[in-house]
Amino acid sequence: MTIDRSTPDLGSLYQEVILDHYKRPRNRGEMDSPDADVTVNNPSCGDTIRMQLRLTADGRIEEVRFRGEGCSISQASVSMLTGLLEGRTRDEVETLADRFKELLHGDADAAKDKALGQARALQGVSKFPTRIRCAFLGWEAAQQALSQGAAEHASE
Ligand code: ZN
Repeated sequence: MTIDRSTPDLGSLYQEVILDHYKRPRNRGEMDSPDADVTVNNPSCGDTIRMQLRLTADGRIEEVRFRGEGCSISQASVSMLTGLLEGRTRDEVETLADRFKELLHGDADAAKDKALGQARALQGVSKFPTRIRCAFLGWEAAQQALSQGAAEHASE
């Protein structure tokens, strides 16, 4: 196995989950006429993520696609995140994002919270503060996309 040197030592089990998402990203691609389409960057690492969402009439996430480039933490994290988004409202995603932020800052309860699904594999990032932005970039994309989607709805 090729070890990506941009991945800090996060523990072997978690490392495997992270590398799996990095190599076989879920929900990667593009969609026609999305309700939201945003691109976010992390200049300090060179990560970039484009996220597209399709929303239901009542504002739930129906479908998500992303494209991105950058370190394994940023790309694995957004892949894990997309597995959590389907069916969620903007409020629910905000709650999860807060929880994930706690995990990234070393909160032990958040690290055990099943609501975060596979994203819990990123708990080791808390030991590498410079990588927290990498891990959160996909979530930032989701927050921006949901905000854009809500604005579109309001103007209809
Ligand atoms: Zn990065």
